[in-house]
Amino acid sequence: MKNIIFIAPPAAGKGTQSAIIENKYNLPHISTGDIFREESKKDTELGRYIAEVLSNGGLVKDEITYDLLTKRLSCEDCKNGYVLDGFPRNIEQAYKYDEILKKLHQELGYVIMLDIPLDTLEKRITGRRICKDCGTVYNINSNLEKPTVESICDKCNGRLYQRNDDNITSFKQRYNLYIEKTKPLLDYYKEKGILYVINGDDTVTNIAKKIDEVLKEGM
Ligand code: AMP
Repeated sequence: MKNIIFIAPPAAGKGTQSAIIENKYNLPHISTGDIFREESKKDTELGRYIAEVLSNGGLVKDEITYDLLTKRLSCEDCKNGYVLDGFPRNIEQAYKYDEILKKLHQELGYVIMLDIPLDTLEKRITGRRICKDCGTVYNINSNLEKPTVESICDKCNGRLYQRNDDNITSFKQRYNLYIEKTKPLLDYYKEKGILYVINGDDTVTNIAKKIDEVLKEGM
């Protein structure tokens, strides 16, 4: 079993596609953003630091990120592979990830890039709503992706919430960081021959199908 990394700008659908793979291939979905959001709720120095970084749209310090991620990847459920969403986000993190994998006797696997234009992302970011109970992602700006009843999850009846950083100001900061720091990683993984670019400006089902075709070849 191989590991999968998603590289894509904010609101490109990494979380949604990761959840689909998680169910289909029985691989845990590890989102560094989710790990940080959980940590930011704690009334500790670390929790307060992370909460501030998240609301500014910046990046959490590398050392903190490595520490929390290594702990998560060492868990039993990651032994057969996982879907990593939100890491690595810069070239230093990519080098560090190579080291972490070596230590854990794991392979890089697939790097999937969701390619999507800026104006689509802006629409998605303001409309994104997430179920606080099951994590299902909706978009109130899309007829295909909005919930049947406003603010209520179709799957579990949980309440939907909007992420604090899902506003245009924070989005711009996160998008610029993506272009400047994360996008260059594509060349790094292309050279290794493990990069797959998929058009992310499509329906959830169509994107999932294309990802499936990539994964089927190697699993
Ligand atoms: P995401 O859910 O991936 O959009 O991440 C939400 C926020 O968590 C980001 O805007 C960063 O502040 C932080 N974050 C997530 N992943 C990383 C990472 N690999 N390195 C540093 N900060 C991160």
